[in-house]
Amino acid sequence: MVSDKKFKMEEMSWKEIEEAKEEGKDTVVLMMGSFEQHGPHMPMKTDTYISDELGVRIAERLDFALMGPTLSVGVSGHHMDFPGTVSLSSDVFMKLIEEHCKSFDEHGFEFIALVPFHGGNFAPAKTAAAEIAEEMKKSKILLVADLERNTKIMMESFKEAGMEYEEKAVHSGATETSVMLAIDEDLVDEDRLEKGYEGKVDNSSLFTEGLKHFTDNGILGDARKASKEAGELILKNLSKDLAEQIDEKRSSLLMKSD
Ligand SMILES: [Zn+2]
Repeated sequence: MVSDKKFKMEEMSWKEIEEAKEEGKDTVVLMMGSFEQHGPHMPMKTDTYISDELGVRIAERLDFALMGPTLSVGVSGHHMDFPGTVSLSSDVFMKLIEEHCKSFDEHGFEFIALVPFHGGNFAPAKTAAAEIAEEMKKSKILLVADLERNTKIMMESFKEAGMEYEEKAVHSGATETSVMLAIDEDLVDEDRLEKGYEGKVDNSSLFTEGLKHFTDNGILGDARKASKEAGELILKNLSKDLAEQIDEKRSSLLMKSD
């Protein structure tokens, strides 16, 4: 582990990035957040704060990885009924991913890991990954985009932390609010924690109907059940799993090219 070395590209000079590459950092981790409503108690940048935190923890675990600039606006059409949300069309978002990848490719990185966290970014990230793969001169794309797997880990970790409450979907409720409490309590307005829609929602109807159809306050689940300790465990387990997926996908490609 090279954890004493810098790995966030945004804090590094070109010289440091060049040196890191020479020392074996051959992978860029590209995280994807959003700028969208997160209930009455959390800020627009919630998914991006979480993506940043996950990115740091992932890169910390992988001695071959640097963390690229987290994409801070995503595909959030299903949140547009709530003031403040900014949404890109899928086409623009895919183009954004593509241009980032082209840049990393030009700099000679062997691998680029695409890691969406916000739900609306998964489908475009998957489509983009397939299209980009053909355009890359050198870089191979590692797609780590299994929304259901992420959701399962978040819910299981919440339980593992001793929490009784069970959520049916993840958005601004107990699990996501827990994560934000663990990242920075000051970003959560604890006077405005509320219960939202607690019924079952599948992702496709969420994306087509929009959140407002289900919940007036923008919450799925119950934000009042959040805890900082559970959030810490979610971050730990989720970043570990995402890092392992990147490691496995990279290893299998390295083996193939031998
Ligand atoms: Zn979110």
